[in-house]
Amino acid sequence: MDLTIEGKAFINGLFEKCCIGVDQGRISSIKKISKGDEHLDFGNKLILPAGIDVHVHFRDPGMTHKEDFSTGSLAAAFGGISCVFDMPNTIPRTIDLQVLSDKIITLGKKSYVDFGVYSCVTNSNIKNTGKIGKKCSGFKIYMGSSTNSLQLDTSNLREVFNEVDSTEKPVLIHAEDEQCLEKHKKKERNLVDHLQSRPSECEEKAIRDILESSRNINSKIHICHLSSSEGLKLLKNRPENVSCGITPHHLLLSVKKNLKPQSRYKVNPPLRTSFDREILFEGMRSGFIDMLESDHAPHSLEESDVDFGDAPSGLPGVETMFPLFLYMAKKRILSFQRLISIICEGPAELVGIPKGKIEVGKDADIIVVNLKNECKIKSDYLHSKCGWSPFEDWSAIFPTHVFVRGERIIEENELLGSQSFGRFVGK
Ligand SMILES: [Zn+2]
Repeated sequence: MDLTIEGKAFINGLFEKCCIGVDQGRISSIKKISKGDEHLDFGNKLILPAGIDVHVHFRDPGMTHKEDFSTGSLAAAFGGISCVFDMPNTIPRTIDLQVLSDKIITLGKKSYVDFGVYSCVTNSNIKNTGKIGKKCSGFKIYMGSSTNSLQLDTSNLREVFNEVDSTEKPVLIHAEDEQCLEKHKKKERNLVDHLQSRPSECEEKAIRDILESSRNINSKIHICHLSSSEGLKLLKNRPENVSCGITPHHLLLSVKKNLKPQSRYKVNPPLRTSFDREILFEGMRSGFIDMLESDHAPHSLEESDVDFGDAPSGLPGVETMFPLFLYMAKKRILSFQRLISIICEGPAELVGIPKGKIEVGKDADIIVVNLKNECKIKSDYLHSKCGWSPFEDWSAIFPTHVFVRGERIIEENELLGSQSFGRFVGK
């Protein structure tokens, strides 16, 4: 055995003192006592599966002044995330096999953590999904326009689901209806205007269309960043293959005048009312929402700190997601079981990778957490290029050690990992 990790590990929903054996990057045994070539004893510290973020925008290639895959994946690593899935609205956009293959090679040279890459389905490449589906980690559909996105007409939704069904890859959807957004478009000077120009009814309409068009489809269909109580209600009786995710910002922030500067908090779907936020939070706590996703979408401060109407949409968050919720689990705002379910198990299941659980046969993607290590989030210590956090001064607990496939990439909050260690998780 290459390595054993001893501590209070989260296994099958419970914490137990044990030794986790690691061989060739995978968990090979879980025993009360065992010793590998190297033995790391973490005493009473918590040993948890590392998190998986199924929704990041690391801006590489094409917009590397905002972020690149090395800084984005470094932020993920320090935040306890061992695998990220990158969205296709990079430049060039990830919409054909060549761009996808090139992107995988580029990211492979830069990433500190494992990664997947989605391809976008647009009105013009529907017939190619079968081919692209052999390589991509899943598909992204934008039903409404967002920053540098490629929107798909609702009338094409059924055809896309039919095409994707044979690929066995998940489809992730930005659910805001384009016509509805057009109807409510207005001049925006602040977050309230932004909310009014993207009302809940647009999310509701899109989700209704998705549920209608995906009847008898077996593929996994994932509604990204659910943001409204109405949307949640519609998903109450969803079929088993439909999942939904939520971002930390929609769970923790609502539209308020005191968010400053307002243009930095512009995001799609928008921050909504505290009523929506509370209903969604309860949905997350009760087990109704399947996973957290950061939708990490950084912009430079020069781009964000402009007139509200000119600012791009998107917030950073990959590094702070797990630490914020680890703190909440410590404070018993949610259970550790829910925490692991929404940051580790749920995401792993959606994208079909052998991670997200401490179990024999899974990748040894593990974090070590000392619950006494409470701190305040300071953007100066974060690793994203964007230089700010919507959660500045919020309480959090960052992992002290992060293992990816049994390799220590963070030790005592110091980086040991290297660029190009991260592997593409597909074929
Ligand atoms: Zn996104």
